[in-house]
Amino acid sequence: MREFDYRRAHDVPGALALLDAEPEARFLGGGTNLVDLMKTGVERPARLVDVRDLPLDRVESTSDGGLRIGATVTNSDLAAHPEVRRRYPALTQAVLAGASGQLRNMATVGGNLLQRTRCGYFADITKPCNKRVPGSGCPAIEGEHHNHAVLGASEHCVATHPSDMGVALAAFDAVVSYETPDGPGTLPFADFYLPVGDTPHRETALPPGALITGVTLPPTPVAARSRYRKVRERASYAFAIGSIAAALDVQGGVVHDVRLAFGAVASRPWRARTAERVLIGATADAETFAAAADAELAAARPLPHNAYKVTLMRNLVVAELTRLTEEAAR
Ligand SMILES: Cc1cc2nc3c(=O)[nH]c(=O)nc-3n(C[C@H](O)[C@H](O)[C@H](O)COP(=O)(O)OP(=O)(O)OC[C@H]3O[C@@H](n4cnc5c(N)ncnc54)[C@H](O)[C@@H]3O)c2cc1C
Ligand code: SF4
Repeated sequence: MREFDYRRAHDVPGALALLDAEPEARFLGGGTNLVDLMKTGVERPARLVDVRDLPLDRVESTSDGGLRIGATVTNSDLAAHPEVRRRYPALTQAVLAGASGQLRNMATVGGNLLQRTRCGYFADITKPCNKRVPGSGCPAIEGEHHNHAVLGASEHCVATHPSDMGVALAAFDAVVSYETPDGPGTLPFADFYLPVGDTPHRETALPPGALITGVTLPPTPVAARSRYRKVRERASYAFAIGSIAAALDVQGGVVHDVRLAFGAVASRPWRARTAERVLIGATADAETFAAAADAELAAARPLPHNAYKVTLMRNLVVAELTRLTEEAAR
């Protein structure tokens, strides 16, 4: 591992200045992803700016009835927060589905959003990888890709985003706040992750050197009736091979409001807006749910070894929307 300088920031301007002063610096949250990547040589920062002492560790209600979540809130504290559990239960379930208790105690909201793909070629510096070394190629397309993307990928990269938390944030229209030396900014979640295209190494629309300060969830009444379901290759402590955040409001047998987002199928948490459009105003039954899933998944472009994800996601949509419909009827 390359030697690095470690600094602890105590306020936001100080954190930005410490990062700005060293071109090869990185912010450090819980370190559960960055430090692993440093050990394998994928990341070689000259300085780490630890952000965990910044005053960004609160979950607070906003005046309009939403929630503001600070960037250094740990995954454990986020999942346990009573207002998150009450108003956005799928967010709690998504966070608890990720990693392990020890990791969630360390991992932060900001770091979770910026965690890197688990593609094995990306993690192995002896292999080519367009995301790690632009222009070097994508061996996953001809090689090991059983857990790679079926939606929104390109011939330059077929990696997935591994975050569970991000899937719920996508479903609930989260807005990411950040600070830069030039001032603050916000990014709606739909614009936060960039399309893959021919620049898979550029993952987010954050300006260079930006510090994520928090995530705001708008008031979303339907989110109170939401679920997160994750499918993985073993029962715990594994990344998803497919997941879904779903929220549903059925009135008189008709879909009044719905939110759907998929995980582990694209380079970013995938908001299923096509499916939502099919569902709104339609009869809440398995046939409609399957038609909505099919409409969304019509854009899927599976590779030889990951076509199972299309069936998996279709089944998840039908199962979770059916379950939410049954729960609402009780
Ligand atoms: C064994 C294992 C299993 C896991 N399983 C899952 C799983 O099932 N589901 C899941 O979703 N995740 C899983 N994870 C990933 C885990 O959720 C992430 O590692 C974690 O959320 C990253 O948060 P962190 O605070 O530790 O980030 P760090 O490792 O500290 O940082 C990650 C990146 O974010 C940047 N960063 C951190 N904070 C900020 C900020 N405020 N502003 C700007 N940049 C910032 C860092 O510079 C770095 O580039 C697993 C991890 C491990 C090691
Ligand atoms: S899928 Fe993306 S991350 Fe994986 S090898 Fe290809 S370019 Fe690299």
